[in-house]
Amino acid sequence: MTVVTLDMVRKIYPNGFEAVKPCSFKIPDGEFVVLVGPSGCGKSTLLRMIAGLEEISGGAISIGQRVVNDVDPANRNIAMVFQNYALYPHMTVSQNMGYGLKNRGLPKSEIQKKVLDAAKMLNLMDYLDRRPSQLSGGQRQRVAMGRAIVRSPELFLFDEPLSNLDAKLRNQMRIEIRSLQRRLGVTAVYVTHDQIEAMTMADRIIVLNEGRIEQIGTPAEIYNQPASTFVAGFMGAPPMNLLNATRSENGLLSIGDDIQINIEAPKSADKEFLLGIRPEDVEMRAEGGLPCDVQIVEELGANHLMHGKLGGQDFSVSVPKDVQAITGPVTYGLKPNAAHFFDKESGFRL
Ligand code: ATP
Repeated sequence: MTVVTLDMVRKIYPNGFEAVKPCSFKIPDGEFVVLVGPSGCGKSTLLRMIAGLEEISGGAISIGQRVVNDVDPANRNIAMVFQNYALYPHMTVSQNMGYGLKNRGLPKSEIQKKVLDAAKMLNLMDYLDRRPSQLSGGQRQRVAMGRAIVRSPELFLFDEPLSNLDAKLRNQMRIEIRSLQRRLGVTAVYVTHDQIEAMTMADRIIVLNEGRIEQIGTPAEIYNQPASTFVAGFMGAPPMNLLNATRSENGLLSIGDDIQINIEAPKSADKEFLLGIRPEDVEMRAEGGLPCDVQIVEELGANHLMHGKLGGQDFSVSVPKDVQAITGPVTYGLKPNAAHFFDKESGFRL
């Protein structure tokens, strides 16, 4: 059972910069957790602290029953897969995969068995005698995975492992990594700045912003109930529309001076607040809806994006490909539960 617990873990670099503010969370055994956030938010620092590659400045990290604050990376029983694969160029695939085990002094026959098992799992049987330079990017990434698997770690750590692959291979590898982790049942922490990877791979997502946890939740919770405008804007492409809105005398919601929506404004809101609407939660209506002036249509194949102005504010809508998307004046209607409300000052969900 490998539960990972972080209790008020923080990182202050020697120059005084607090890259990770006190962070607490628990990862249950076998869970796949994705740390996601924009560049510089502290996700690699957090992962490297779990790995023991970076000292922590406060708090405690436990892996299983053990507090590992002062345990060397080599003794944490973890395996880390990096973006640049970190393979040895002069060794064959099989030697690369078995290297860690050889260092541990395992007998040759046992190493061979583990390497073969992993190679079968990863479709690498035909490449065992090749060197990394004779492999494609996806195959190299599989070798890096193989090297992690053979060590039977308690915890997998992934640091943006798919960043160097093209889009098609990335899609394929994320399915492979996820199904492999499920099969092995090993707890995993995966760092990415790619919200699609986070949404598709995670059991739970931790969204980081400027060294702080903005939200922890399942992909559905994060997407459907974003805790802040930051999360709402980061998860989803195109992002959620955020409109300045007010509560009118009758308690309904208004955008600008002329547009009133037949939805009750949140009672907890100040007079002014932000209204969030996902682009796909809007549909074209013949009449009686929200008037919008569409300026640009992007055709993406499965759907069309219609970008325009609503009450003078930017507003983007995604409609299925069978809907005729046009520029010029249109009226939209909101699907049920389309409206999200956020405090204008703090950005937090109301
Ligand atoms: P990216 O996706 O770009 O790798 P990240 O979210 O993984 O970003 P980190 O690498 O964890 O971010 O860095 C977090 C912050 O800490 C950044 O602002 C970075 O500049 C800063 N930082 C990282 N290493 C050091 C260091 N050794 N000394 C001072 N500041 C550092």
